[in-house]
Amino acid sequence: MKTITKELPETKHIALVAHDGKKQTLENWCVKHKYLLADHKLYGTGTTGNLIEKATDLPVEKLLSGPMGGDQQLGAKIAEHEIHILIFFWDPLASQPHDPDIKALLRLAAVWNIPVACTESSADMLLTSSLMTSKISREIPDYHSYLATRLN
Ligand code: PGA
Repeated sequence: MKTITKELPETKHIALVAHDGKKQTLENWCVKHKYLLADHKLYGTGTTGNLIEKATDLPVEKLLSGPMGGDQQLGAKIAEHEIHILIFFWDPLASQPHDPDIKALLRLAAVWNIPVACTESSADMLLTSSLMTSKISREIPDYHSYLATRLN
């Protein structure tokens, strides 16, 4: 697969998602980092987004609730380069009805090589990195050449 270099901008678009067993953890994390998060644009699945908006007073672009399609909406926005970072506190101790959607979301984050944090400690490291407020170059699939080879 050919790749191209594509930058993430200084102001990041951050997706925030937490399973029910991790919602309080993500809410607390967002309150703790409210002033760092305020420099970026926030997105969230329906329930998570509403809870974070209420807890932090920061604006959150709220999509559908995860099990109703919100994870898939986030995945589409990653593929379209609208979302640059995924903070996803998934619950390793509970099964989820929308497991295929969760896998798809994590898969697309890997395909498009965006920074992902699935635990509080990794999210701490990500958000406090100096790269959060500078441009970051990353390698992503060269979609146009991928399509061209398939159409040959
Ligand atoms: P929710 O969705 O924020 O609407 O609960 C999150 C998820 O379970 O994917």
